[in-house]
Amino acid sequence: MHIQKDKVVSIDYTLTNNHGEVLDSSSGREPLAYLHGNGGLIPGLEKELEGKVKGDKLVAIIAPEQAYGLRTEELVQEIPLKNFHDASEVKVGVQFQVENEHEVRIATVTAVGENSATVDMNHPLADETLHFDVEVMDVREPTKEEMEHGHVHGAGGHHH
Ligand code: ZN
Repeated sequence: MHIQKDKVVSIDYTLTNNHGEVLDSSSGREPLAYLHGNGGLIPGLEKELEGKVKGDKLVAIIAPEQAYGLRTEELVQEIPLKNFHDASEVKVGVQFQVENEHEVRIATVTAVGENSATVDMNHPLADETLHFDVEVMDVREPTKEEMEHGHVHGAGGHHH
């Protein structure tokens, strides 16, 4: 079975940056399972996996534009400390999730002033060229429920 839209794909992967540092890996864990063509993976990696079959191995080098995007200064914002639930926990390096109606972003505190904090909402992997070492472990049809939810259930997928 070939990887195409709406197949459930399981992959083992190691992600490294341009310097060969390992950023993430499925090693020692369940393979990552996702519903192909539904935004579960970064677009560049889904494109590379298209048409592959179980057992295929590939190395995919993904430019930032096809991964987590380029850094933008618009995503660096000054936020009044009174807007935080607990201002005493706002320290340089602390990360938290910010949600709007479109997406969830990881925000990192980069400076703390007397009345406000500077928060960087660029993805931690923005500007990075990503090197994926991937092995396709499985390709299967989704269940009816997985199709309705738009994501994978069970091992390696969502639990709810
Ligand atoms: Zn679900």
